Amino acid sequence: MNIGFIGLGRMGFSLARSLVSKGETVCVFDLNAEAAQKLEAEGARRAQNVAEACKDADIVFTMLPGPKQVLAVALGAEGIIENLPATSIYIDMSTVDVDTVDALAQAFADKGIAFGDAPVGRLAAHADKGESLFMLGIDGQHLPKVEPVFYKMGTTVYHCGKAGDGTRTKLINNMMVLCYCQINSEALVLAQSLGLDLNTTFEVLTSTTASNGQLKEKWPNKVLKGDLSPGFDLALGYKDISLASNAGASSQVALPVCDTARNVFRMALASGRVGQDTSCITDFWAELNHRPSPRLK
Ligand code: NAD
Repeated sequence: MNIGFIGLGRMGFSLARSLVSKGETVCVFDLNAEAAQKLEAEGARRAQNVAEACKDADIVFTMLPGPKQVLAVALGAEGIIENLPATSIYIDMSTVDVDTVDALAQAFADKGIAFGDAPVGRLAAHADKGESLFMLGIDGQHLPKVEPVFYKMGTTVYHCGKAGDGTRTKLINNMMVLCYCQINSEALVLAQSLGLDLNTTFEVLTSTTASNGQLKEKWPNKVLKGDLSPGFDLALGYKDISLASNAGASSQVALPVCDTARNVFRMALASGRVGQDTSCITDFWAELNHRPSPRLK
């Protein structure tokens, strides 16, 4: 199987690397040539542009920041739709909005090229270890061809339905994940302000039904030890919670917690936290309340 892989950032690099390390033939492309060069050194072929990554590919994946980049790479001049053989499959793994994924599905259906979406769940640290989860939306007839490829990048694949249903599932998933950023932050800043021992509080909160995956798995390895380097970049988090908020608006579903968390993300970005991990919301919340940053000992 020849695989094209476009977008080698925090997530795409690790996913493409898993394919290469498991012996797949992978042709990679990113505007950042350095990322592609690193994978070339590990056995990938490096394409000079999107067209080259599509040439002779059985499957092409994109893992790009958001709707704007995906639409440009997939449907733009010199894009995937102009270059992919009709027998190939194109799967977008980026997190985009419903309108974007539906536009992609329609455009590729019109061209007679199979299309699916497979946004990725779990943390960047899981992608590094080949332990990602995929929310796959594609016509069931393609599962025998594509599922084995996903199991070379991760451990779990859910077939959520037709093309577009992966994205719909991911929006709901990330709305919950990102709302927890705010809930965790309010809880931790309050716990510290009430004079509690944070280590003990943390153990209690992760051992009861208050527990959430973000708090349990991510917080102790990121903000609570002072590591704000992006696993999940704050700007991407803001994009994702905005996608959920916008989906609520267009479906006329009220999402008050989501909308509040979205505004806090915007405030944190405006305060200068561009380039930090989403867990930096906890430090932002402490700063806003003139309290020290909560840290585990
Ligand atoms: P990133 O910003 O680290 O990487 C994006 C990559 O795309 C960069 O290397 C960039 O150079 C490349 N790129 C941008 N435009 C391009 C173009 N026109 N042609 C070729 N390459 C181009 O982002 P990431 O953290 O890897 O996230 C990618 C997607 O996955 C996003 O949609 C994000 O929301 C989603 N996601 C992220 C996480 C996470 O924890 N980081 C987890 C799950 C899903």
